[in-house]
Parts: sequence; structure tokens; C-alpha cells
Amino acid sequence: MVSENPSNEGNPKRQWSLEDFEIGKPLGKGKFGRVYVAREIKSKYIVALKVIFKEQIEKYRIQHQLRREMEIQTSLKHPNVLRLYGWFHDAERVFLILEYAHNGELYKELKKKGHLSERQAATYILSLTKALAYCHEKSVIHRDIKPENLLLDHEGRLKIADFGWSVQSRSKRHTMCGTLDYLAPEMVENKAHDYAVDNWTLGVLCYEFLYGVPPFEAESQADTFKRIVKVDLSFPSTPSVSVEAKHLISQLLVKDSSKRLSLQKIVQHPWIIKNANPDGIYKK
Ligand code: AMP
Repeated sequence: MVSENPSNEGNPKRQWSLEDFEIGKPLGKGKFGRVYVAREIKSKYIVALKVIFKEQIEKYRIQHQLRREMEIQTSLKHPNVLRLYGWFHDAERVFLILEYAHNGELYKELKKKGHLSERQAATYILSLTKALAYCHEKSVIHRDIKPENLLLDHEGRLKIADFGWSVQSRSKRHTMCGTLDYLAPEMVENKAHDYAVDNWTLGVLCYEFLYGVPPFEAESQADTFKRIVKVDLSFPSTPSVSVEAKHLISQLLVKDSSKRLSLQKIVQHPWIIKNANPDGIYKK
């Protein structure tokens, strides 16, 4: 483990280029680019390098979204938010220097296991709650939290990644975005929304961690839409889930956004107190 990291801290004018890195194995492929493990040559610090082709950026007109994502993510420094250390570009590509999440996507872990234990689920929900409280304090609403956007580091600590859809705002927002299953009723109905959309998503995730499927899953998008709007929530008999966990989920999946459990209250919820590891580390 090398103590130094490749951030611009103390050296705000640091200009990175591809020559500063040794590129390793590919980690994955997203909609807009590929991600590789890389080592910053001088510090030997391991990072994830995300490569996005400028052609793609122009084709999908995501210049503004990408810049916003980069600016927001650079400003966020929290143990449960994936760090963006910096970025650079050449003629064809933009490179994002990201914190490396050694254990990859939480989604893969969930698919492999089917569903998570209450201890593991509660640890992740607590980490997410703390990360969101920090983001909300900085006026950032993530709006696109889903298992694919949650990564795990070498210690099993959860990291929120992908701020592509997040917004920095103090006012109610009106734009429609994100994947339907995780969206709050006010978002699918295209109504004004605020920070409480992330609290709803915590309820959806808590359910999915424990049952292996999101609560409003349906054959079609239209049916998911209907189930979200009605808050058509039911708890299957298997797997067996504690009454306290169901209580927390029911307090978050509430149609009236002002009545959803606050982030402060989630941290103090008996299910969290009983099951979560306060340092956010979950080791198998
Ligand atoms: P993305 O383009 O952000 O969707 O990334 C594509 C895939 O690369 C993800 O699904 C992850 O499996 C992997 N990946 C992205 N960022 C990282 C990271 N910082 N550390 C480890 N793996 C990553």
C-alpha cells in the first residue's frame, strides 16, 4: 500500500497525461467507455482509469453531463463516495483517474448470492446513508443510485460511483432521469422532487439486498410505473426477513416524500443499530 495518492492536493496545477500511468487489465465496459486498472508510475498508486472517446461524447451530446459529473465527483471526499482524483485528455479521448474499487460491482455479488444477509445489507445501507447525508449537505442529489453504481473496495467497503445523473441544487428539480425500478413516485410522475428521492431509493435498495429483486419489478416498464405510483409493496415469505428490516423499508417507501424516514433516523433505526458494522467494512 502506497500512502501517496495521485490527487492534485497540494499541487493544484498538476497536469496528468497517459505517460504518467502503466495500464493494466480491463475492469469493465460501460455505455461510454472502458475502465482499466492502472498504476501511477511515480507514486505506484493503483487507480482505475476510465477512457471515454470524444466521438461518443459528441454523438450522445453528454459534454455538459460529463463535466457536471466530473466537477461534482471531484468535490466529494467521503469514504463511501468513489474519489475522482483528476482527469486529462488527448486528441481522441478523455481519461478519468478514479479510485480503484478492487471488489468490483455490488450488483455482481448480489446476483451471485441471490440475496444478502441482514448484516451485510445493513452495513451497506448505513454506508449509503452516511454518503448520502454528506452529499445532501453539499447540495448534491444523486438520483441514480442502483446496484450497478455501487462498487466495493478491497476491504468490502461500499463506494457510490457514477454521478452522471446527479444534480447540485437547492431547489426542487423537474427533470426525468434514471432507471425506473429505483425511482421515487414523484420522479416517475415527472413532478418536482428533492433530496427525498434518494431516501426512497434507499428503501428500494434495502428491499433488493434482502430479497434479491427490487420491490416494484414487473414485466413491463408501464407496470413498474403503476406499481411505484400505487406503492404496491409486499414482502414475500422467502427469504425470511426480520420485522425490523421490513419496518425500515416501509418507512422509506412512502409516497409522501416529506413523510419518509430522514437519513438521521435511518442511522438510529433498531435494524441498523443491531446489524450494521459502523465502520462500513463487510468481510465475507
Ligand atoms: P462504467 O463505465 O462506469 O459503467 O464502468 C464499467 C465497469 O467497469 C463497471 O461496471 C465496473 O465493473 C468497472 N469499474 C468502473 N469503475 C471502476 C473502479 N473505479 N474500480 C473498479 N472497477 C470499476
